Amino acid sequence: MDVRTCKSCKRIFNYLSGPIICPSCVEKLEEKFKEVKDYIRANPHASLQDVSEANEVSVKQLKTWVREERLKFSDDSQVGIECMNCGAMIKFGKYCDACKGKMINTLNHAVEQPQPVKVEPKKSDGNRMRFLDS
Ligand SMILES: [Zn+2]
Ligand SMILES: [Zn+2]
Repeated sequence: MDVRTCKSCKRIFNYLSGPIICPSCVEKLEEKFKEVKDYIRANPHASLQDVSEANEVSVKQLKTWVREERLKFSDDSQVGIECMNCGAMIKFGKYCDACKGKMINTLNHAVEQPQPVKVEPKKSDGNRMRFLDS
């Protein structure tokens, strides 16, 4: 049994997995999330600050939901969240499309081409270089 202190209400609970938040706070947070969703639906141009104040949710929590892609800013919204890589404004998630694209490329690159390891010493390179026989 894994007993932890809830990050939100400081009560002790049996921890299972995910964020260190007790079941009753998870429930409360889900309720909040629904409220926020409804609020955003009714007020598509509300800023993070507006949503935070109207629903009594911290901006940090709102951003977490946006990062988790559970919330997103409307496409014509003037506000957004920063790409965690380049700081460009995005509507949801962690990275902008450009960075996502770059990351996928880098990833593919890494998979396709593992760092070449020097195995064969070069043969003769004139007089300038020599390899020592071990
Ligand atoms: Zn709690
Ligand atoms: Zn970016």
